[in-house]
Amino acid sequence: MSVVPLPVPAVPTFESFGLPRKVLAALVLEDIETPTPVQSAVIPDALAGHDVLGRAQTGSGKTLAFGIPVVARLAGEKSRINRPRAIIIVPTRELAGQVERSMELVARAVKLKLATVYGGTRYDRQVQQLRQGTDIVVATPGRLRDLIDKGILQTDDVQVTVLDEADHLCDLGFFPEVDELLSLTPEGAQRLLLSATLDGDVDVLVKKHLRDPRLHELDSSSASVTTMDHHVLTVGGFRDKVAAAVALVEANPRSIVFTRTREGATELRDALAEQGVNAVDLHGNLSQRVRERNLERFSTGRAQAVVATDVAARGIHVDGVGLVVHFDPPTDPKAYLHRSGRTARAGESGAVVTIATLRQLTSVAQLQRTAGVEARHHDVRTAPSPMTAEALASSGTLKAPARKKAGGPQGPRGGYAGKGRRRDERPGRRGGRPARPSTARARRG
Ligand code: AMP
Repeated sequence: MSVVPLPVPAVPTFESFGLPRKVLAALVLEDIETPTPVQSAVIPDALAGHDVLGRAQTGSGKTLAFGIPVVARLAGEKSRINRPRAIIIVPTRELAGQVERSMELVARAVKLKLATVYGGTRYDRQVQQLRQGTDIVVATPGRLRDLIDKGILQTDDVQVTVLDEADHLCDLGFFPEVDELLSLTPEGAQRLLLSATLDGDVDVLVKKHLRDPRLHELDSSSASVTTMDHHVLTVGGFRDKVAAAVALVEANPRSIVFTRTREGATELRDALAEQGVNAVDLHGNLSQRVRERNLERFSTGRAQAVVATDVAARGIHVDGVGLVVHFDPPTDPKAYLHRSGRTARAGESGAVVTIATLRQLTSVAQLQRTAGVEARHHDVRTAPSPMTAEALASSGTLKAPARKKAGGPQGPRGGYAGKGRRRDERPGRRGGRPARPSTARARRG
């Protein structure tokens, strides 16, 4: 009997895409050797000149999935003054910086000039870069529109436009700007759109601006979730949340902690600092300079934690983040997955802990169910110490605690399991100031 070997599925390589030799060398220098699934799917179609619609999240390697074809397409020619040949539109300044950093080496390898263009900074440098013949502009919509209106940036030479995190652009209300910006690029130009979701306004953009797009649904909401452990840490009340956050950050030195509001982020950072935890905050109340400095402190390990709001943290790309803490539970499953996606990036593992008071447990469980996540439950009184990701992974239960049993470190104290809501358990007012860590409240008198 002869045995016929099963065909071995070909694992795509960057070489097999026919990329410029210098681009391949630049990737090797960055230890980027095997394409991720989103790269294997998107790069060949984008190189062939198709419009591409990719459903992929941060952490999947999506930046280079569009970045490599953009660079390969533009290599070998120069751009005219003030007329970039590729525009990458992103929702936030932080993401603009990250896209630039990811693409820089690859672009530089083939002598392409890259510039980032975003609000909150002076015009002169951006104007100067465009005058020098920038090839690729990474931009947030507002500043891009400004530069076009001022005649500093002209779109007639644009060969490829990328919308990165299109769903987030729309969530932030940029749909009209993005719609208009796409209309300003030449009719036959290539368009690549990446998004974690493809419904609502994103769908409108797709129908209006993409021609016969190749669709790649590589939503990593499930893929990335499998490399993450999800936990719920139940505490008695708001005061205990701060203590729990301190314990978590101390045990897991590279952590990102999410709060609902900007003020909440600063106050939690202060509260962590009072406990000796070196943390920085990241949110829209800070100037661009301070945001960059804080992110840099965290990226280089000088700060062990960053306390951030959703908008500021979206697209943060820092490797080696072992823990994401939802200090305030996110508002919806999408936000839960986006926040959680700051850890377990590019195949690393990571833990996600939602700190919940008993009253928040039901809504947190509901949110996780909708997000397709199964979490382990821990009571802060019996949780392992130190609360490292590994210790949490091997403790707790898959069942949420009964409401009347769980409690804070001091044990159940009459009030919180009952009807009345304790003052320090109250969530922040909608749109107003958040409930504050009590330590911060005391300090401010
Ligand atoms: P992104 O999803 O684009 O934010 O990328 C997440 C991280 O994965 C970044 O640190 C990239 O440098 C890294 N990365 C991207 N592609 C690869 C690859 N093919 N192999 C290893 N790391 C990668």
